[in-house]
Amino acid sequence: MGSLSLPVVCGQLLTGAATFGGLLAKGEISPARAWVGMRGAARYMRAVAAGDVAEGGAVAERLAVCRGCPGAVPDADLGDDAMWCGGPGAEVGPDGMPTCGCLLPAKASVGSETCPRASWPSVPPGPPAGK
Ligand code: SF4
Repeated sequence: MGSLSLPVVCGQLLTGAATFGGLLAKGEISPARAWVGMRGAARYMRAVAAGDVAEGGAVAERLAVCRGCPGAVPDADLGDDAMWCGGPGAEVGPDGMPTCGCLLPAKASVGSETCPRASWPSVPPGPPAGK
């Protein structure tokens, strides 16, 4: 299985950044937390642009682990499969354990990323992504 297409990954990253902006506009998160989240999305975007994209099978394996993790928080507003690691920008999950606050489909697509609980490791970049 090849990597997710770059447009799909970039769309996820932009969605994540926009979510932080929306939460900030509604007063649901602090400016500091929104800024950290937006900077995180930009960091992922740079990584993906540099070719740091996980192979599709690795992405699927990572997300399967996340689906079974008590730290994962679904986000129906972003789609059926969308979930956050603890919630947007959250440092602690619903179970009281550490989280990274990232949008998981985007995080799982970046090869060098790792789970904050060491439930999945970094992987080398996959084959060139499709268009
Ligand atoms: S990245 Fe790790 S801590 Fe976060 S939801 Fe996935 S498995 Fe859980």
